[in-house]
Amino acid sequence: MARVYNFSAGPSMMPEKALKRAAEEMLECGSSGQSVMEMSHRSKEYEAIITGCEALVRELLNVPDNYKVLFLQGGASTQFAMVPLNLMKTGKADYVITGQWAKKAYQEALKFGDAKAAASSADKTFTYIPELTPDMFRADADYVHVCYNNTIYGTHYNTFPNVGDLPLVADMSSCIMSEPVDVSKFAMIYAGAQKNIGPAGLTVVIIREDLIGGAKENVPTMLNYQIHADNGSMYNTPPTYSIYMCKLILEWLKDDMGGVAQMHKVNLHKAKMFYDYLDSSSMFKGTVVPKDRSIMNIPFVTGNEEMDKLFVKESKEAGFWNLKGHRTVGGMRASIYNAMPVEGVEKLIDFMKDFEKRNG
Ligand SMILES: *Cc1c(COP(=O)(O)O)cnc(C)c1O
Repeated sequence: MARVYNFSAGPSMMPEKALKRAAEEMLECGSSGQSVMEMSHRSKEYEAIITGCEALVRELLNVPDNYKVLFLQGGASTQFAMVPLNLMKTGKADYVITGQWAKKAYQEALKFGDAKAAASSADKTFTYIPELTPDMFRADADYVHVCYNNTIYGTHYNTFPNVGDLPLVADMSSCIMSEPVDVSKFAMIYAGAQKNIGPAGLTVVIIREDLIGGAKENVPTMLNYQIHADNGSMYNTPPTYSIYMCKLILEWLKDDMGGVAQMHKVNLHKAKMFYDYLDSSSMFKGTVVPKDRSIMNIPFVTGNEEMDKLFVKESKEAGFWNLKGHRTVGGMRASIYNAMPVEGVEKLIDFMKDFEKRNG
């Protein structure tokens, strides 16, 4: 077996330890006599899994007691609708457009109320994060929505989004658990699991309790946070196996990596190595202004489309997969989430140096 280094933006690499544990427990989890996939979600055994997973989310992110942690389905994209359906109480919300995902969230909100694009970095192909000041937002907006880490363009809020006293909602799909965050500064955080914490489909929502319960009568039951909060994420059958995988990955993050602050140090180290190389290379160039660079997603180009293609082809043959950039950006992108080993980044840099020597 030869596992590749997978630089995909998502679904992406998972810690080998979590995968091995899942393999060991495939036929029988603990002494339950069954696979997790076969368990009743109402069983004692499964109860331990979902409450264990929630406890890990709370511990690792230091989630205050007045926040609910929900395990939902439908990916981050379903949150693009759930956020306005539940939080638009007066019908107004402001969005910061920093890329495709932020734009999709905004466009979905337009279906439900008066959504406003309060700031945008579209003028420079989303290669930076616009500076935010509270006066840019409507004082009576129900919330401000930001995409904290822009997966496609490789930007990240390295200074905290200044929205004044307005409730701040953040899509953290591609950075959750990669860095410490002060949850109390957010009204709500959500993340599709498939980048840093689990299988695709599972979505983690962390929401302040006072924001729950504002959905209108006609909001579908499954899209109402109140229903999920009141039922411990078990109004219907939750994505049981995905929550189990999430728990194994968070156990690895806690026990093997030493928690989120330690993980952040490793992530900073991996990203610095990569950016230092890009900044010194005469062939490869980063596309993002240095102050807004993401440590999770790193887009880069050679400036020559044929050369980019050759690089993507040869890197794949060498065991570095999915380095092709998003179709809207071109070039390349290396996504280096929590589970990408330091060694994977080192080896990719070595490969790039060699490629540069051969083709420069
Ligand atoms: C991947 C991603 C999404 C979409 O997630 P799905 O789970 O596929 O709906 C949304 N926002 C961000 C920032 C992402 O990286």
